[in-house]
Amino acid sequence: MVAASPVGRVFYLDYNATAPARPEAIAALTSALSEVGNPSSLHRLGRAADAVVRKAREQVAALIGCSPGEIVFTSGATEANNLAFAATSGRIRRVITTAVEHPAVLEAARALASNGWHVRVLEVDRQGRPDLRSLAEELADETPTLVSMMAANNETGTLIDISQVVSIAHAAGALVHTDATQLVGRLPIDLAQLDVDLLSLSAHKFGGPQGVGALFVRRGVPLTTKRLTYGGGQERGWRPGTLNVAGIAGAGAAAKACHHRLDDEVDRVRSLRDHLEREIIKLIPDAWTNGDPKHRLPGTSSITFPGAPADAVIAAMPDVAVSNGSACSSGAPGPSHVLTAMGLSREEAECTIRFSLGYASTATDVSTAVDETALAVARVRHALTDGELTSSGVGSPGIIS
Ligand code: PMP
Repeated sequence: MVAASPVGRVFYLDYNATAPARPEAIAALTSALSEVGNPSSLHRLGRAADAVVRKAREQVAALIGCSPGEIVFTSGATEANNLAFAATSGRIRRVITTAVEHPAVLEAARALASNGWHVRVLEVDRQGRPDLRSLAEELADETPTLVSMMAANNETGTLIDISQVVSIAHAAGALVHTDATQLVGRLPIDLAQLDVDLLSLSAHKFGGPQGVGALFVRRGVPLTTKRLTYGGGQERGWRPGTLNVAGIAGAGAAAKACHHRLDDEVDRVRSLRDHLEREIIKLIPDAWTNGDPKHRLPGTSSITFPGAPADAVIAAMPDVAVSNGSACSSGAPGPSHVLTAMGLSREEAECTIRFSLGYASTATDVSTAVDETALAVARVRHALTDGELTSSGVGSPGIIS
């Protein structure tokens, strides 16, 4: 996907940060934006706005296989994750999560710890998977627990077997939340089969607008009246405030478009990603991929280029959009907490680039990224050996001396 930018054309391989909006989403959003009406108003225009939201709720529910009444619209997955914790906080005394979660889970869990919850963070193996036997052991003491584990990792694409997490957790009477932000719209998911209690998603990862997400709350799951925010009765009181009607319309249209094409998109994106990895390793034989090679998101590739700090490599290929670690944590100092939890050294983590492809990615994006990456890595390594560049770690953008 070649995107226009103020500084020229950019080959976009950063879908895990955000996906380009689908044309269907843009059309639905702009059309809804031009209509007046608060969905809570009783007059005709209010009912029309309510109908727009109702349709979008059905479209999002269809994408994940739940009923529309189980969707609570939020401002994104960050809010959905926080709301999941707030909604369970009255009953639960402990959260068990993993070391590779997004900060929107890890930081929310830490905040609960300061309110008296016990927080247990499970370690992961070299491929980014938690040891689920230790989950069963942790749950044996019957403390009321929320297990929160991501369905797919945003940096490596590693998939966690959430159905196994559900069997273990439910057998011990624990509730299960999954942050499925990177999975929804990238691989099929059916909540009629996968018995999680709560699930977070974000529309901009599957071609909807930024700033819209949802928390799935399974009907009948015992929750408390605690909320993140208090106000009117919108979203059955779970998320008060006038709804973002246009954004929600865009999210619904993106969900519908993506639902119809998902199987084709999965195959196409996976074969582009596999090609990218093969070609890069051919040109840079000492590079390696991170994550679970078999159970991985189809479009994600995390590649370590030893001796070539990612910040400097990215700066050396301005026409290719990729990330060092995740976009969300790349502003934070220090190496990726995901990669170091998987056993990479600080230096290896700092030499890792995330390529993420999606529904509009093309063979040209991939071939350009391969060529540019090979050139940039060679240039950076060369500059480092010649002393033109100092590698002083993440946070310092590959300082040129
Ligand atoms: N969880 C994961 C796994 C993510 O990748 C992201 C976005 N990078 C979020 C949560 C937060 O989503 P949002 O920006 O929509 O709040």
